[in-house]
Order: sequence, then C-alpha cells, then structure tokens
Amino acid sequence: MQPSSTPSRPALMDDYEAGQWAVHFEDREPEDLLEWAFERFGTQRLALISSFQAESSVLIDMAWRINPQVRVITVDTGRLPQETYELIDRVRERYRIAVEVVMPDPVLIGRMVRRHGMNLFYRDVNLRLLCCHLRKVLPLQQVLEGLDAWVTGLRRAQWATRANIRKVEIDHDHGGLVKLNPLADWSDDDVWDYIRQNDVPYNALYDRGYTSIGCAPCTRPVEPGADPRSGRWWWEKDAPKECGMHCPIETGGFEHEVEAIL
Ligand code: SF4
Repeated sequence: MQPSSTPSRPALMDDYEAGQWAVHFEDREPEDLLEWAFERFGTQRLALISSFQAESSVLIDMAWRINPQVRVITVDTGRLPQETYELIDRVRERYRIAVEVVMPDPVLIGRMVRRHGMNLFYRDVNLRLLCCHLRKVLPLQQVLEGLDAWVTGLRRAQWATRANIRKVEIDHDHGGLVKLNPLADWSDDDVWDYIRQNDVPYNALYDRGYTSIGCAPCTRPVEPGADPRSGRWWWEKDAPKECGMHCPIETGGFEHEVEAIL
C-alpha cells in the first residue's frame, strides 16, 4: 500500500529507457552502474538508501570510492539494534560521510502505541505491517520525494519477491523516480568476498548468526543453512518477508489500521 498522496513527477526516464539501461548494465560491474548514476543524476538528487546490512556496506564503500560526496540516507525506525547504530558511526568516521538519518513522525507513532501498545507487531500481521508502514514506509516516501534516483542493496537471491528485479527500474510506487539495484545479480559470497577483500565495516550481528538485519524486536539469528531471511518476522507464517519499502503490500486489514491512525 502506498498513500494516495504519493506525487507523480515529470518523467526523468520512461520504462523503455530504463529497460535499455537495465540490459546495458546487466553483465557489467556494480561500479559501472554507480559511475553512470553519478554522471546522470549528480550528487544532490541521487542517494544510497541504506539499511546498514552487508549490501549497504558494500555499496557505501563502492560509491565513496567513485565519489566521496555520495549521499547516504537511512531510516531510523526507533527500534534498530544497537549494533546498527554503532555501524552508522563507524561509517561516519571511516568515510567522513554525514549519514542522513530520517525518523518517523512521532505523532503517528504516539497514536499507534496508544492504540495498540509498544510491541504490537507480535500480535497480528496487520499490526506488524502498520508498524512497518509508519516507521519505515512513510519516512522513506518523504525522503524519495526529494530525489530523482535511489540506490538500493536489493539482490535477486534474497527472497522470492526480489527474484525479478532489474538493475535499472522506474519506481512507480514512489512517483516514478529511478531505482538502481547494482547488486541485483550478486550472491552472498560476492557480498562477503567484497567486504573481506576491502576491509569494509559491517554490522557486528553477522558474527552472531544473523543473516538479514532489520529492527531489533523483529530479527533473530538463524541456524546454519536456513533461509537467510527466515530470521525476519520469524513468528509469521505465510506472510511476506517484506515491510513495504520495496513492494506494495495489500492485506485488507492493514490498510484499515493505517487509516485509523492517520
Ligand atoms: Fe515495527 Fe518490526 Fe517493522 Fe521495525 S520491523 S517497523 S519494529 S514491525
């Protein structure tokens, strides 16, 4: 679900051109795509939207080597693990990047917890999606309104909902800006080889069995060999392992909860 207020923008690029660029970059290195992105969009209206997972670590390092003026923006949901905050500071120190931290609207969060309590997400998938919507999706939407293009760490191997992503896409869920997924075809090994070879700072939770890292109450380590995203919202059965930042989610009940808060 995307709020009806999502503005459309003058087309920066249409689907046809994005498709052509996607084909062009499919077999090229992520650095080639990032270099092109800086040339095409500059440094003010292009940003890495970072969750400070391993893929973010790779992209920050790569982008910084190409252009140290790269903008790095993250959404602080208010429920992130301490290890993620520590990594944000390590990135700030290592690269001298003033990471831009965006937070959810405290009024909306106040209404939500008054109505449903602090740990509402464990009770019902619609309440979990409500929390993700207010803490993640709306702040992201606000950030994207000021951009022409955003860079994500999405990979096709992460989850079924991501299997068909292209390296260059038009993000119709956010008003038609350009979405770049430079690591779309990378494997886990590619990510960790890059991190080790370049001594890139990464989230300390990976050394404790975590394979995908989100908010503290909704993420846990997984057994070796388990699906990497199975530690996210682990109590939910047959629900999307997504928060709505990268794909619209419709359940019926969740939209009703959002309307009640807004
Ligand atoms: Fe809320 Fe959990 Fe979603 Fe974070 S991951 S926004 S705590 S439901």
